[in-house]
Amino acid sequence: MSDRRGLLIILSSPSGAGKSTLSKRLREWDPTIEFSVSATTRAPRPGEVDGQDYYFVTEAEFKRMVRDGEMLEHAHVFGNFYGTPRAPVEKAIAAGSDVLFDIDWQGAQQIANSPLNLHTLSVFLLPPSIEELRRRLVSRGQDPDEVIARRMQKSWDEISHWGGYDYVLINEKIDETEECLKAVVTAARLRRSQQPALTDHVRALQSQFEELA
Ligand code: GDP
Ligand code: ADP
Ligand code: 5GP
Repeated sequence: MSDRRGLLIILSSPSGAGKSTLSKRLREWDPTIEFSVSATTRAPRPGEVDGQDYYFVTEAEFKRMVRDGEMLEHAHVFGNFYGTPRAPVEKAIAAGSDVLFDIDWQGAQQIANSPLNLHTLSVFLLPPSIEELRRRLVSRGQDPDEVIARRMQKSWDEISHWGGYDYVLINEKIDETEECLKAVVTAARLRRSQQPALTDHVRALQSQFEELA
């Protein structure tokens, strides 16, 4: 059991703004952060590994998971279903670990309003410009043209929810954005409410102080 409360770190952005890249860097910085592997009905991209990037499931299996209460949240994004399996999140939080989510605004709202009353840190990534967003989606080279066109078309839907997040980072230079992300994670971890062990520490300081007197 950790002496910190687990934190739910939510990353959202329009597609191509840098969520996957930054979540990978954040986990390299602190490997104790658990990544919430979502279930999705979309097809795997080249190089994506089942159980690591996503659980790739059929629509029937997805709907069964929703029906059986196995999803913490779920949404329909770009014509596919995406959802967060509940059990791994509950296990990680019970162990005092932080959990990282790469989810859309609908998922972020559902988690923030969930009755679990968990502590969340939500971060929204903005692209420097729409042209740069398109350039990144194209240069990623993993989606067919029509998928890129649909994601570009929906990018404003996602961006329009930026105001509901705790922090907003403009992802211009990736190294600078990474430093900012690490800074907000560190700050969130130091919130008084995230450190239940503080009471004991202060009590110990008080005893030491009284012994001095
Ligand atoms: P669009 O066609 O891209 O606009 O996507 P919609 O949001 O309209 O959803 C398409 C289909 O998925 C409809 O049949 C919806 O009822 C269904 N749907 C949307 N969200 C969910 C969900 O979270 N769970 C389930 N089981 N079905 C959903
Ligand atoms: P998302 O997960 O939000 O869809 P990705 O992390 O896959 O986005 O990033 C989309 C593409 O843009 C990738 O090819 C990634 O390497 C690139 N990228 C991400 N951040 C930056 C940045 N600050 N500058 C230039 N390219 C970036
Ligand atoms: P992609 O297909 O590019 O991996 O993801 C498309 C969008 O779905 C992104 O905005 C991503 O954050 C979102 N997404 C991925 N997993 C989940 C999930 O479990 N729940 C929700 N609500 N959105 C998700």
